[in-house]
Amino acid sequence: MTLFHILTFAQNLLKERVQTGDIVVDCTCGNGNDTLFLAQLVGKSGKVYGFDIQQQAIEKTKELLKEHQLLDQVKCIQDSHEHITQWINEPITAAMFNLGYLPGGDKKITTHYDTTIKAIEGLLPLLKVNGLITIALYVGHDVGNEAKEVEKFLMSLPQKQFSVLKYQFINQVNFPPI
Ligand code: SAM
Repeated sequence: MTLFHILTFAQNLLKERVQTGDIVVDCTCGNGNDTLFLAQLVGKSGKVYGFDIQQQAIEKTKELLKEHQLLDQVKCIQDSHEHITQWINEPITAAMFNLGYLPGGDKKITTHYDTTIKAIEGLLPLLKVNGLITIALYVGHDVGNEAKEVEKFLMSLPQKQFSVLKYQFINQVNFPPI
């Protein structure tokens, strides 16, 4: 078994679970890399909802999708992911969070545990049986204790309904995301 970096590990889990035609969510579009990955997974018959609060991120994401001719199956939404249930009312197979700030953007505009937890709470009832949510949390710069608080919330989920796995390298410098 190969131990992958967290973002690759998350993508590998999604590759196993998501199929062509599925409906999935990118909760933090950023520069659009994960949105593109999800759009490729679901294909032309699927749908991706992509959220980001920053116009710059939404524009970058749209640009990247356009380059790959994958804009049609993605609904890019400039809104906080805490409002997910105002935008989605159909079952989803998977969702991705890559928390923190926009790489190359304003580091002060970052995710916060309260809105992140609201988003997860909104997603859980929409998640299909055997659905999957991946969350990359940055413990090195844990602004506002986001990693700590999100983990606390996830630990409280009932084990009969949800399995929560934490994937963390514990001997690496610079605190890689978990
Ligand atoms: N997945 C992205 C990619 O592939 O490039 C990277 C995401 S980046 C680490 C985190 C993003 O979360 C930033 O673009 C930021 O604007 C966004 N963000 C912060 N708070 C948010 C919120 N409440 N709702 C949605 N997006 C938010």
